[in-house]
Parts: sequence; C-alpha cells; structure tokens
Amino acid sequence: MRYDLEITLEEAALGCEKEISVKKLDRCETCEGSGAEHGSQMRTCSTCGGRGQVLMARGIFSIAQTCPNCKGVGRILERPCKSCRGEGRQERTSKIKLRIPAGVDGGSRLRSSGNGEAGIRGGPPGDLYVMLHLKAHEIFQRDGDDLLCEVPVSFVQATLGAEIEVPTLEGRAMIKIPAGTQSHSTFRVKGKGVKKLQDHGQGDLHVRVQVEVPTRLNHEQKAKLQEFAALCDEDVNPISKSFFEKAKSLFR
Ligand SMILES: [Zn+2]
Ligand SMILES: [Zn+2]
Repeated sequence: MRYDLEITLEEAALGCEKEISVKKLDRCETCEGSGAEHGSQMRTCSTCGGRGQVLMARGIFSIAQTCPNCKGVGRILERPCKSCRGEGRQERTSKIKLRIPAGVDGGSRLRSSGNGEAGIRGGPPGDLYVMLHLKAHEIFQRDGDDLLCEVPVSFVQATLGAEIEVPTLEGRAMIKIPAGTQSHSTFRVKGKGVKKLQDHGQGDLHVRVQVEVPTRLNHEQKAKLQEFAALCDEDVNPISKSFFEKAKSLFR
C-alpha cells in the first residue's frame, strides 16, 4: 500500500517523527480477524478436503487450482462475522507513527513494515510504502546533500568587503566576502548542508550573493554618489573596461 507524504526541508534534513492517518483495510475488531461470528466454528472445506487446491482434469493431465469454494483457505466459515462479512478485515482510518531519518530527499520511499492492509481472515498484513515529497522552501534550494541560498548584499559591502550573516537550517552563520565581490559570486559554508543519509557527515551550504542596487535615494545620497562617480576612472570598473574595448569595433 502506498501513501504520499509532503514534508518540509527542515523535517527532511533533520529527521522527524510524523503521525499519519491512513484509510485502509484493518483487522476486524468484532471477530479479531478470523471472519467467523463469535462462537461459530470453522469447518474443513468439503470441496478440497482442506487442501485449498483442487485438481482439474485437462485431457490426460490434471492441474492444481485454487479451490473455488474456500478460495484456497481450506476451511469454510459456519457463520461469517456480520461486521466484515467473513473477510476478517474492515476499512478503518488508523494512525501510524513514522520515523523519518535525517537526510531523506523528495522521491525517497520509506517502508513501514506490517502497516499495510490486513490479510484476509487473519492473514499477514502487507507493508505500507510512504513516498516522500519535499515542499519548496522560501530560502533554500536543495541539491543532493548541498543547499543553495541567495543572499542580498549592499553594493558598499560588495565593494569594500564585509562580514555578512547568512541563514542555515540550524540558525545563522557568518561569512566574509572580500572587497570587490561581484554579484552572483558563490561562497561555500562547509558542513551547513543536509546530513548525509547513507554516510557520515553533512553537505555544504552554497551562498550566492546578489548585489542590490540602491533605490529611492534622497537628494543628499544622490549627490554623494555623483561626487563618487566623478572620482572614478575606468580602472575602477575593469569588467566594463574590457567589455567596451571588445565592443569598440561594433560601435563604429
Ligand atoms: Zn469480522
Ligand atoms: Zn476448499
């Protein structure tokens, strides 16, 4: 039996316990799975003599087939249980506790042994397979055991270098970005990714900085920037310098 479960990135990364409600065929409580009404007996199936199989003649061969009378059980109910009509199981919603190990990913399948549907007339229960799906996270994207997040920095921080605060699944971490950091540069924070499921250790967090261009400047702020721009020559912006050198022929 299959059940689909959506979990958050935190739950997948750190592991958790979940209680799910599953509607499935469970052991009948009235007859305790036997399928027989209280006090009534089971008797041996007269068609197959209790073997559960009958031999059918096919020309010179005889082929063993499941007994049509007892459906292979070998015994017949004298009076079937009224709650389950002799099936020994009934549809019920049961609560099942699941332990989700740290490091699982979307698409992982967990097996909850014996928590599938009950067998007919007290037969062994099947297993429940839980398919995990990961909810999208507001901050982090997951790539295997690694996490990726984009962190905005001001253009002054990117220009002068700074120590910036970055989020992790277990609180905050500080990273240093050097002077002259360009937008979309990526920095690795070791061991701040997701715990490895099969192995020891933890993945990494990759922080991609996004340089934010200031908006809604007041008069004084604008004046300062213009003053700053007047002090700049092309050596301050080497990427622009090299670009315009290459584009020179196209501008003619
Ligand atoms: Zn029953
Ligand atoms: Zn039979």
